[in-house]
Amino acid sequence: MKVLVTGGAGYIGSHTVVELLNDNHEVIIVDNFSNSNPEVLNRIKEITNKEFKFYEVDLLDEEKFEKVFKENQIDATIHFAGYKAVGESVEKPISYYHNNLTSTFILCDLMKKYSVKKLVFSSSATVYGMNNSSPLLETMPLSATNPYGMTKLMIEQILGDLYKSDNSWGIALLRYFNPIGAHESGRIGENPNGIPNNLMPYITQVAVKKREKLSIFGSDYDTHDGTGVRDYIHVVDLAKGHIKALEKFENETGVEAFNLGTGDGISVLDLVNAFKGINNVDIPYELVSRRAGDVATCYADSSKALKELNWKTEKSLEDMCRDSWKWQSNNPNGY
Ligand code: NAD
Ligand code: UDP
Repeated sequence: MKVLVTGGAGYIGSHTVVELLNDNHEVIIVDNFSNSNPEVLNRIKEITNKEFKFYEVDLLDEEKFEKVFKENQIDATIHFAGYKAVGESVEKPISYYHNNLTSTFILCDLMKKYSVKKLVFSSSATVYGMNNSSPLLETMPLSATNPYGMTKLMIEQILGDLYKSDNSWGIALLRYFNPIGAHESGRIGENPNGIPNNLMPYITQVAVKKREKLSIFGSDYDTHDGTGVRDYIHVVDLAKGHIKALEKFENETGVEAFNLGTGDGISVLDLVNAFKGINNVDIPYELVSRRAGDVATCYADSSKALKELNWKTEKSLEDMCRDSWKWQSNNPNGY
């Protein structure tokens, strides 16, 4: 297939592009580098030894974005582009709503105009909100506690309405749990700007001595060791889930949500201890108070993805810790 990948220079996008190229799909990346670095494109070429097209375009610039559709016979889109920092979304809600929603409206309008009706959307486990118990199922009630989560929830709703209005669309809403890890080559990986918000990039920056110590947010949760429990998934397993979703909707229509997680609940201390043991590095930490808005426990029931996409994770927590460290230690300052 000829696949348009919005946000393909980003963390999950770049790993998905590698898997698409390895599977002999043709790839067209659109990204404005608002949260990524052009060097990633060289690295993707280096890993795959394959060519792809790239457009440095902001999705909000409809005129320039339309050129991508005019110049390419696109079969399907994977839509990663968007802002993703929860805390920042509380500070700058309009910017988040504008970028995440408007880019999706423009994308869907162009897809409709050029009769491209296969779409894989990056949603998030955050749409399960605070009131469900894990393992989380696709059928559970949805809610959001911050503007970022609200953009995901709203886009899921909007894409559902789009399908209702036109049953020729095939739309996968992929609800990611916590992607960590990196390509096994150590050449591409997560490259946050400034102080990392997420746990694994913080751990790797402590390990590489860019940060003095990790603050563990909360040690009094009702979990096996008091720290927060999440479902960490290797980014390469996650990337492969997108290809399975494309395959499902290649000859099918509908709109369906899928959890992409391992189903295993790992605490902050479990992850820190695994990382230390596997990589033989020290991670100094302190226990501090809870972070506002965090749930105690969040992990997936991914049986729907197994049944309907024939997808399951293949990589272990050891792979995740080893590959995250390989990326960070080989690229201490990112790209
Ligand atoms: P990322 O920031 O690394 O990648 C997003 C890419 O989109 C970046 O390269 C950025 O430059 C680009 N982009 C943003 N706005 C754009 C615009 N208007 N026009 C063109 N390009 C634009 O993020 P990621 O971690 O790879 O996440 C990808 C998607 O998955 C996002 O939608 C995110 O919300 C979602 N998601 C991520 C996680 C996670 O933990 N990383 C979890 C759940 C969902
Ligand atoms: N966390 C932490 N210290 C950090 C970053 C995160 O203790 O510097 C904890 C956080 O409270 C949560 C887990 O690690 O329990 C995963 O957090 P992350 O932000 O990576 O993912 P999310 O909360 O969005 O699932």
